[in-house]
Amino acid sequence: STFSGLGLNPLIAAHLETKLDIKKPTAIQRSSIPAIISEQPDSTQRDVFIQSQTGSGKTLSYLLPIIHDLLPLSSLSYIDRSIGTLAIIIAPTRELAKQISDVLETLLTLRLRPQDENPDGETGEHSERLTRWLVSGLLIGGATRTHEKARLRKGLPFLVATPGRLLDHLQNTASFNVGKCRWLVLDEADRLMDLGFEQTIDGILKGLEGRRKLALTAVEEGKSHEVGGWDWSRSRRTVLC
Ligand code: AMP
Repeated sequence: STFSGLGLNPLIAAHLETKLDIKKPTAIQRSSIPAIISEQPDSTQRDVFIQSQTGSGKTLSYLLPIIHDLLPLSSLSYIDRSIGTLAIIIAPTRELAKQISDVLETLLTLRLRPQDENPDGETGEHSERLTRWLVSGLLIGGATRTHEKARLRKGLPFLVATPGRLLDHLQNTASFNVGKCRWLVLDEADRLMDLGFEQTIDGILKGLEGRRKLALTAVEEGKSHEVGGWDWSRSRRTVLC
């Protein structure tokens, strides 16, 4: 089986092979990618619950179908600031958020050869991206709020964040536009709950009410199935591996 065979845009499949030398989907990717791709946007409460062990390829099992969903929107101008944020990935720790963000950046960009870099440090990256406008950002605290606000004002279609800082911006950054947000992923949702983020996630869900699709992931079985009053077992699609 191949990634294109799962319905994934061949451009993404080719990019994946060039960038990461990944050609064959893992079991969780074989079940989750078609399930997520077949969900229609602009409807609430279409949820996907992915459960698989660490190391099984879980990150790509949601990142790839989300990129697939967003890619056709590239007819929108990449400088269109009004586009705001279209996909948000929440992770329990800064380290995990950073890891996810690195994978995402790798998927969205092609590495430049040194001779491609021009003298003033400009990387010419735009011509090498999967798309020009699909840019990702990391919100994990550490950076100043002012700096993050400036980035959000410019528009970050793809966001990887820790819960506290994300809720902070949802509540306090007027230029953070989530009106067109299509995806919210809670990576390691069970750990988010264990670390006491339940109320924060609740606040985030309220802030995105009516304009979200959910993909929830958990690594361990037998953990609480409640996230912000939302019962995972009632999700429309459950992808177990
Ligand atoms: P994860 O479970 O998302 O943390 O992924 C674990 C590791 O598996 C990462 O280093 C991925 O790059 C790698 N990986 C993910 N999907 C595949 C695949 N289809 N084939 C080979 N390696 C993969």
